Amino acid sequence: MQGELKIEQSTQLKPKPNTANLSFGVYMTDHMFTMDYDKGQGWHDAKIVPYGPIPMDPAAKVFHYGQTIFEGMKAYVGPDGDIRLFRPEKNFERFNRSCRRMSIPEIDEAFVLNALKELIKLDRSWVPSEPGTSLYIRPFAIATENHLGANPSLNYKMMIILSPVAAYYAEGLNPVRIYVETRDVRAVTGGVGEAKTAGNYAASMQAQENAYAAGYSQVLWLDGVQRKYVEEVGSMNVFFRIGDRIVTPSLSGSILNGITRDSAIHMLRDFGFEVEERPITIDELWQHAEDGSLIEAFGTGTAAVVSPIGEIGWEDKTVKIGAGETGECTRRLYDELTSLQRGDSEDRFGWTQTVCRAETAQS
Ligand SMILES: *Cc1c(COP(=O)(O)O)cnc(C)c1O
Repeated sequence: MQGELKIEQSTQLKPKPNTANLSFGVYMTDHMFTMDYDKGQGWHDAKIVPYGPIPMDPAAKVFHYGQTIFEGMKAYVGPDGDIRLFRPEKNFERFNRSCRRMSIPEIDEAFVLNALKELIKLDRSWVPSEPGTSLYIRPFAIATENHLGANPSLNYKMMIILSPVAAYYAEGLNPVRIYVETRDVRAVTGGVGEAKTAGNYAASMQAQENAYAAGYSQVLWLDGVQRKYVEEVGSMNVFFRIGDRIVTPSLSGSILNGITRDSAIHMLRDFGFEVEERPITIDELWQHAEDGSLIEAFGTGTAAVVSPIGEIGWEDKTVKIGAGETGECTRRLYDELTSLQRGDSEDRFGWTQTVCRAETAQS
């Protein structure tokens, strides 16, 4: 369908940023992957080209109707100097699930994963190797047909861009305060909460801003129908340790099926914890928090991997979890998952894929 992958190397390589101030998603590498779709022809013109702007017509459907989806994943340099991807096949599977929901034509997962590996090889000198740093990978698809009709686009563009990112926790795991949002909802049953699509993010920004203004760093989302069940925290999946059980909301259709969530469930069971995937109400959670049986809480997602929660605010009440400190299970999960991703420890689940050697192997 898309034919062979063409590679056009950049003749003007960019200066590399200082790894000390990478931040998140600020710098892009020298190359990008692009491929186009036209109805009747399918995906075609798959190529790696120098990174740069793309011309867009103001009538392109993505600007008006939000027909777009994306993924987020990371590559890491291990102590052996190999660059590794973490469960990348899961991201492209989910890419296609998101495509189906948003009426975007599916991609050939194996072809695009291979193209991603070629792109990383070409830009391997951009993969940072300092502890905690990584190469963030952003695949996405947009509707490009120039037509204001509100029906599925006949043309699309799929791209992958790469960005070296700093360690999420510069000064160690830091528990955050989260605020229970009771007015806005992120997603509803039957809606697009399960798809990784831009509109879910746009819809969440107002509540996020309000939580910030009130001194919290993330929103704890409740379900969109009864505003009763806990769904996600910010743009992460959420876990609670209640005594020796770990509870995470079951995938309801409005919750994003996180790859870090799935990995955490496997790893926590491997640690010997009982993990329950079930609906959990904010009332039940609050009761456990008040009687002290809620001893740990954390979010999971590619960016932070594991993010400890130290305090919850709900209307005018607040409650601390585990005295506001990072819990032992949260810390162990963070340590073991990040060291497996980097290749510091044995990959006992078969989750990593080696891409190539890094340009400057860490000693
Ligand atoms: C991407 C995302 C997550 C986390 O998924 P991972 O695969 O673990 O990165 C969780 N919630 C939302 C809303 C997301 O967009």
